[in-house]
Amino acid sequence: MELYELSLYHLTEGLKAKKFSPEEVYESCKKRIDSCEENIHAFITRTDEIAKSQLQEDNSGILAGVPTVLKDNLCTKGIRTTAASKILGNWRPPYNASAWNYLRSAGAVLMGKVNMDEFAMGNTCGNSAFGATHNPNDLSRVPGGSSGGSAAAVSAGYVPFALGSDTGGSIRQPAAYCGVYGLKPTYGMVSRYGLISYGSSLDQIGPFARTVRDLQIVMSVIAHYDPMDSSCFREKNYDFTHHENVSIKGKKVALVKEFQDFTLDPAIERAMKKTQEILQEEGAELVEVSLPVVSKYAVACYYALAMSEAHTNLERYDGVRLGYTVKDAAGIKEMFERVRSYGFGPEVKSRIIAGTCLTEPERCEQYYVAATKVRTLIAQEFTKAFTQTDFILQPASPEMPPLIGSQDDDAMKGYQADLYTLPVNLAGLPGLSFFTGYYGDLPVGLQLIGPRWSDPAILEAGLVIERHTGTPEIANEGVK
Ligand code: GLN
Repeated sequence: MELYELSLYHLTEGLKAKKFSPEEVYESCKKRIDSCEENIHAFITRTDEIAKSQLQEDNSGILAGVPTVLKDNLCTKGIRTTAASKILGNWRPPYNASAWNYLRSAGAVLMGKVNMDEFAMGNTCGNSAFGATHNPNDLSRVPGGSSGGSAAAVSAGYVPFALGSDTGGSIRQPAAYCGVYGLKPTYGMVSRYGLISYGSSLDQIGPFARTVRDLQIVMSVIAHYDPMDSSCFREKNYDFTHHENVSIKGKKVALVKEFQDFTLDPAIERAMKKTQEILQEEGAELVEVSLPVVSKYAVACYYALAMSEAHTNLERYDGVRLGYTVKDAAGIKEMFERVRSYGFGPEVKSRIIAGTCLTEPERCEQYYVAATKVRTLIAQEFTKAFTQTDFILQPASPEMPPLIGSQDDDAMKGYQADLYTLPVNLAGLPGLSFFTGYYGDLPVGLQLIGPRWSDPAILEAGLVIERHTGTPEIANEGVK
């Protein structure tokens, strides 16, 4: 077995026991990246040399010598950070995202910054100024998005874990498309400081890995109180270390009544059936909850809020403060126009325009304010549902990964496909995207949702399911 194939847990154990050296792990991962990257295109910026120098530092943290990659909307001090947009130019942030600081302190080394939909807007990883990433399980298909580069890097064996961000599904859907595990933590569980904002009330950073145990390890490092993020949790300590003798016996797992009428890809339908059998075999009780407002209004509510927040958050890219600029504009208005016309891609522009319209004084009550009220109803609906069940089981996407380019002309279809993930962000809940097996050559993932702060319990339930499904194999389609 090659070192790049090891799970994060086995890698850390082997490094601790000095079975192999950090340099050997680095070389193995680097070789793997070199052999696949031409076909997969997960990276925006490779930082092999930086990783190499980080290896020299004395560190005995639990991730000492473990290579990782970050979605390119996480700020890295002195290292180009683009959010996959031309508008950031060659911006090198003056500070690190807190989540990266925590990983770095624990000894992780950075192999690079990976691809995403521009400003995290999209679900294919195709809305990137740097070109599309390919799914390592089938190169003709998308890896999902927006954190497609992070999911592809873990699936192809570049690194044992990666960080992404999830505003409406961007960790969970690409994890499902690439056949890896991904956790969208409770809003406030992981500091957002240094995450380039898209929809600030929805954004959350989280990990990808090839086993549930590995997600636990990463969460134990990044779920950290941070005074730099006022929405970050304050009092409690969350325990991500339970992995032996975990059980879901007697727990309730619900299906959503209203979702039963919607069509799923047959492979996802089969995965849902198989997972229900596993849950029952493990002594969980299957129940049903009703989420009528979610099923009818969540998509419209999410896009109204996400676009409104995005248009405000993206105001700062004006050619003055940071990133791309023009030097020969006749005046400030021309400068704004030229910088923003060139700098933003079409999806981002359309969302800025929509967000501007939704929040204009004469329409604000009708759209933005109405959406905030619907959001409250959605959160209340989940609160009620979680008095009747411990978890909710549902797909991460109704579809298998589409062919690259096949959905470029149908934005509405893409928005609608987020129905299974975005309600979780509206209510600030945690959601685990887990591997269920292969159907043909493609992996299928599903999603388990819990009440706020139940992240440790969801991962434990994930461990129970993983005992039946086994862990995903490293995808080899990218090998030259
Ligand atoms: N597809 C959704 C959107 O485009 C979610 C993206 C995300 O979670 N960043 O808004």
